[in-house]
Amino acid sequence: MSDHVLTQLTPRVWWLNPVSATDRPTLGVIVGERGSLVVDAGNSPAHAGALRAAMARHDLPAPRLIALTHWHWDHVFGAATLDVPALASHETQRVLGLMAAMDWGDQALDQRVEAGVEIAFCRDMIKAELPDRSGLLIRPPEIGLADALTLNLGDVTCRLIHVGGDHSPDAITVHVPEERVAFIGDAIYDDLYHGPRRLTARLLFPLLDRLLALDAAYYVAGHDTEPIGREQFARDAAELRAIGALVGRIGDDHDAVVAALPAALGAQPDAGHHEIAAAFLAGLRLPEVASPL
Ligand SMILES: [Zn+2]
Repeated sequence: MSDHVLTQLTPRVWWLNPVSATDRPTLGVIVGERGSLVVDAGNSPAHAGALRAAMARHDLPAPRLIALTHWHWDHVFGAATLDVPALASHETQRVLGLMAAMDWGDQALDQRVEAGVEIAFCRDMIKAELPDRSGLLIRPPEIGLADALTLNLGDVTCRLIHVGGDHSPDAITVHVPEERVAFIGDAIYDDLYHGPRRLTARLLFPLLDRLLALDAAYYVAGHDTEPIGREQFARDAAELRAIGALVGRIGDDHDAVVAALPAALGAQPDAGHHEIAAAFLAGLRLPEVASPL
């Protein structure tokens, strides 16, 4: 796909831009002298193939291992195509084991949306990216990690850390200390699977602390169009925290939260701030959720 550009971020780290038309997320490549670790496998064989072709164009060593940041379809459907061992959290392994046995035909997918275990957005994007899914092969990750694991690629290491969060409790971050880069997947985004988009201070605040504690100059997020520099990431985190704390203080009163937003932010809120406030309010109403699968 010509929309994809593989860009070098640091001497040993590259990233493939996300394409929102069919919800293709950012993919990462960490190049070591013992081979490349790919971060997330893409949302289809075509997406994984676009990454592999771009890597070949830049003479990067072929993928040797894949790290899957979480189980959502757009990050994993390309894994079988890359055909190298995958690493993920135990919970990602569990869910992908279930997904591997599922029927991904149109009718089954529609039924799962009806039953509330799939969301319409993902169903529509799956159909758009992969109209024919008869040959779709979902391969659960070979290697599971509980809390953290360090990969040695020779001249560079990758630290896989289970971080969780509202978006997907199985989420891991891939930190490359020598390059000061952290691939954070979708971890800081909101939960899409339980009605209105949700965020909770209980899960998000400690997650932000953990991510900010990493020695990273860049944070690469799953659907952001550019890597986020450390200062910007700290500012974004402070805004999330300010809005979450405000909602925690005021409680479930939308109008009062909106009225207090300018003072809490020290600026006029934009549409994004209002969405974050709405997500924290949804999190107050539904503080705990079970995995959809
Ligand atoms: Zn996701």
